Amino acid sequence: MNYKNITIAGSGVLGYQIAFQTAFHGFNVTVYDINDTVLEKAKSKFKSMCEAFKKDLNATEQELDKTFENLRYTSDLADAVKDADLLIEAVPENPKIKIDFYNKLAKVASEKTVFVTNSSTLLPSQFADATGRPSKFLALHFANTIWIHNTAEIMGHATTDPKVFKDVVAFAKAIGMLALPLNKEQPGYILNSLLVPLLSAATNLLISEVATPEIIDKTWMKATGAPLGPFAILDVVGITTVYNINKTAAENTKDELKIKTVKYLKENFIDKNKLGVSTGEGFYKYPNPTYKNSDFLK
Ligand code: NAD
Repeated sequence: MNYKNITIAGSGVLGYQIAFQTAFHGFNVTVYDINDTVLEKAKSKFKSMCEAFKKDLNATEQELDKTFENLRYTSDLADAVKDADLLIEAVPENPKIKIDFYNKLAKVASEKTVFVTNSSTLLPSQFADATGRPSKFLALHFANTIWIHNTAEIMGHATTDPKVFKDVVAFAKAIGMLALPLNKEQPGYILNSLLVPLLSAATNLLISEVATPEIIDKTWMKATGAPLGPFAILDVVGITTVYNINKTAAENTKDELKIKTVKYLKENFIDKNKLGVSTGEGFYKYPNPTYKNSDFLK
C-alpha cells in the first residue's frame, strides 16, 4: 500500500472523525463537502476532537499541531480528488445522493484513485457501476467515535480487485484501526449482523412482557460476561434510531409485535425526550446508570 493522499467526501458525523484520524496518522487529508459553510463547521469540530484525542489517546500538542498541518479543505470536487490515492465516501445514507455523487466523482477523479464507501446499510455492489471503476471500489466501514471504537470492516463486492482490497486493509491498519476483512458482501457487515438480532430479541422480550430491561440486561451480562446488556446498548445507539428502524420494519411487515414496539417507544421515550445517553435518560438514567453499580449483578 503506498497511499499518501486521502480525500474524505462528507464532513458530517463520521466524515470529520475519519478525516481527523487519518491526518493524525500522518496522511495528507483533503476534506470535501458541498459548500464552505459546512466545511467551516467541520473545522470547529476538529478543535473538539483535539480534547478527545488528548484525553483518550494521550495525544501530544505536537502530534495535534501536525494533524492540522495535514488537513486541507475544499468544496470543489475536481480539486478535492486531483492527487488522491484513496477517496473515502461518507455522504448521507441515501442511495440517490450516493449515486449522484459517484457519477460526478467518476468524471473528475484520476484513474488511479481507489474509492471506498463508509455506508452502514447499503452494499458496494449497488454503486459499483456508478463509480466507473468497479475493481477499485469496496466498503470501508467505521464505527462512531472511531478513535476509541476503532473497528474497520472491509467488504468488497464480486469484482473488487483482491490487490486493492489488501491495500485498503493495510491502510485501515495504518490509521490505527482494527482491520476486519469480510470474505463476501453481507448486509449489516459482521457487527450489525450480530447486534441487530440481539437488540431486536431484547425489545421483543420487553414488549411481550416477559421481563424488565434490567432483568434482561442482567441475564446477558452475567451469562456472557459482556460489559453492557442490550438495553444499555440501545441507550448508546439512541432511542430515535431504534424507533426509526422499528417504524420502518412495522410499516413493511405489519408485524403486530413491531407495531406494539413502535407505540411503546413513542409514548414512553420519544414523546418524553428520553432518547438515551445523549439526553441523560433512556432505559437507564445517566451519568450513573444502575448497571454500573457494583451490586447490579449480585
Ligand atoms: P451526516 O449526515 O452527518 O453527514 C453527511 C455529510 O455529507 C454532511 O456534511 C453533508 O453536508 C455531506 N454531503 C451531502 N451531500 C453531499 C454530496 N453530494 N457530496 C459531498 N458531501 C455531501 O452523515 P453521517 O452520519 O456522517 O453518515 C455518512 C455515512 O457514514 C453514511 O453512509 C452512514 O451510513 C455512514 N456511517 C455513519 C455512522 C454514524 O454513526 N453516524 C456510523 C458508520 C457509518
